[in-house]
Order: sequence, then structure tokens, then C-alpha cells
Amino acid sequence: KLSKRLQMIADRVPVGSKVADIGSDHALLPTFLAQQGMIVFAVAGEVNPGPFEAATRQVLESGLSKKISVRSGDGLAVIEPGEVNVITIAGMGGSLMASILEAGKQKLEGVTHLILQPNVGEDQVRKWLLAEGWNLVAEAILEEDGKIYEILTATAGSAQDKNSQEALYAERTLSGGIVVSKERLLQMGPYLLEEAPEVWFSKWDSELKKLAMIEGQLKLSTAEASAVKAEQIAQEIKDIKEVLACLQ
Ligand code: SAM
Repeated sequence: KLSKRLQMIADRVPVGSKVADIGSDHALLPTFLAQQGMIVFAVAGEVNPGPFEAATRQVLESGLSKKISVRSGDGLAVIEPGEVNVITIAGMGGSLMASILEAGKQKLEGVTHLILQPNVGEDQVRKWLLAEGWNLVAEAILEEDGKIYEILTATAGSAQDKNSQEALYAERTLSGGIVVSKERLLQMGPYLLEEAPEVWFSKWDSELKKLAMIEGQLKLSTAEASAVKAEQIAQEIKDIKEVLACLQ
């Protein structure tokens, strides 16, 4: 049985796809998808030898070697252009994820869906998607074992989609009169902010605590740059609190 997090990612993979799971570790996600008959083919990519061996063993033991190709390499280097139509990347930081996508741009030809679950730095992923013309079409959030995860689904965009994505991130005024900036939407998620589920509030409660701690530490320093940064964080905390209060 998959974890709730991996199950939610699996649920977002269109049936009949060819999938590359990058940073696959034990190849649990492609194994599950293949066992359920939900995909026709998968690549499990791993850059580190330990996880690569674990993935190889898992696929062999599951008797899925014909359906899942386990490959060793950095990011999208493990796939050929046109080989898959879905890419999943889960369980790493958003900036690493964005750099993997950026470095492998020429491999994205024929890819229709990106299903991304950054552990932190979701804003970095949203920014990359927006800049590169991908459509953010859905966001999900879940809690498992005391951790909160976001899953971002994006589809390949056409020139016409550009306006709808710009609109998705356009400054919004909430019913309480609070203005939400593009920066805040990239950070908090345009759909999540709209739906405002309970878990999302929990996430931002704990993010606010982290920010307050950073602010406190910066205030202890006498350096001028620290004072400026502390002021920026204080403003960010205020902004986020206003948004949350408006939606609660
Ligand atoms: N995707 C699985 C999941 O969500 O349960 C495993 C997540 S695990 C925490 C992250 C994996 O990404 C590690 O196995 C690591 O070796 C791999 N990884 C990190 N950087 C990578 C890169 N540039 N290319 C491929 N794999 C990478």
C-alpha cells in the first residue's frame, strides 16, 4: 500500500500514460502505477547509487522489468525527448525541482503533464512553471505523519493559455478588502488560496512560526543588512496574517 502522499500523486497520473518518475528512490510510485495497470511504461530515474540499486531491486522483485526501466542519471538526463508524456517529481525541494526542469527543458517535448510535489519552496516551482509557459491546473494539499505536502499539477501550455495563467496570478482583492499580490499567490498557491482548506491554514500557521523565529534571530544581529531583512520578514508575516484572517 502506498503512502497517502504517493497515492495522491498516483491519482493525478492520467490512465494509459508513459511516466518518468525522477528521484524515484525505491521506485514505489512507478511500481504501484504499473501493478494497477494504470500506465503503459515508466522510467524510474535516480542520481544516487543507493536509491538506484533499491529501485532496480524493487522492479526486479515485482516482475515489472518489461514495464519499468530503471535508469541512473541526473534529473531529466535519463529520458529521451518524446519518450514519456508525464513527469512526476516528488519529495525534494522546490528549487532543486525547478533546476532539474530548467536543465532538462529540451526533454519536455511531448510531455503533457508535470506532477510535482516539492517538500519546501513551492513558490520556486510555480515561478518556473509560469515563466516557462506551463499551466498550473490544480493544487492539492495533504497532511501525513505530521507533515504537510502540496502537489502541483501542470499541463503543457499554448500561447492562448498565457493570459489565463497571468490572470490566475493577477493581484486579487479578497472580500475583506485585503489585496493579495502576485508574489503572495506564487507563495501560497492560487487555487489553495481560493479553496482555503483546513490543512492549508495549519501549514501557514507553522510557516508563520518559522518566519517569526527567523525575524527574532535577525533582530539579535547588529548588522544593518539583518535589520533590513528583519523588516522585510515582519512585513511578510503581516501580509500573510492579513490574508489568512480574511479567509478564515
Ligand atoms: N520520489 C520519492 C518519494 O517522493 O517518495 C523519493 C523522494 S527522496 C526523498 C528524493 C530522491 O531524489 C532521492 O532518492 C535522491 O537520490 C533523488 N534525487 C535528488 N536529486 C536528484 C537528481 N538531480 N536527479 C535524480 N534524482 C535525484
